[in-house]
Amino acid sequence: MFFKLNLNLLIKIFISICTIRIFEKMERQRIGIDMDEVLADVIAKFETLYKQHHPNETLQEQADGIEFYDLLPEHIAGDFRKHIYEKGFFRDLEVIEDSQRVVKELTKKYDVFIVSAAMEFRNSLEDKVDWLADHFPFISWQRTIFCGLKIVNVDVLIDDRSRNFIGFDGRPLLFTSPHNRLITEFERVNTWEEVAAKLL
Ligand SMILES: [Mg+2]
Repeated sequence: MFFKLNLNLLIKIFISICTIRIFEKMERQRIGIDMDEVLADVIAKFETLYKQHHPNETLQEQADGIEFYDLLPEHIAGDFRKHIYEKGFFRDLEVIEDSQRVVKELTKKYDVFIVSAAMEFRNSLEDKVDWLADHFPFISWQRTIFCGLKIVNVDVLIDDRSRNFIGFDGRPLLFTSPHNRLITEFERVNTWEEVAAKLL
């Protein structure tokens, strides 16, 4: 009798735990995370290349709302853009501060996807896959979305380009980069610490 009661109780507890787990999984939200200027520091790479190739040329001081290309002297600007199309450009980018730690924490609570418009740069695909494997090994290839337009079914999209929020129904988080500092119509995150404060 005692054993039977306990067995019934154990079965009920087991079913309850399974039900909770199922609901937890159902409730997990999806987060899409951009790469360039959100996880990977493209501007730092531009600055390094500029110093290498034009050691005697000055660069305009960074101002809010200005793209890096617009800081370049006019006679250099057109030619400088070729670097981003070169194989290897995206392979050794510096990792944006705190992103590894916070993204790893996010994966415990959310389904996290990397969403990069990598198709803009055909030589970037392999570099980006290898870079992610080095710095974000906990993100599987199944959760890496290389695309053109970011038409993705996620609940939160973290991106530095506001154009990627057009038509997006979820919660956009604009990750600060010099070029977007004058944009005011989106919820902004300046650092990965701020992402953590909002989402964890
Ligand atoms: Mg970006």
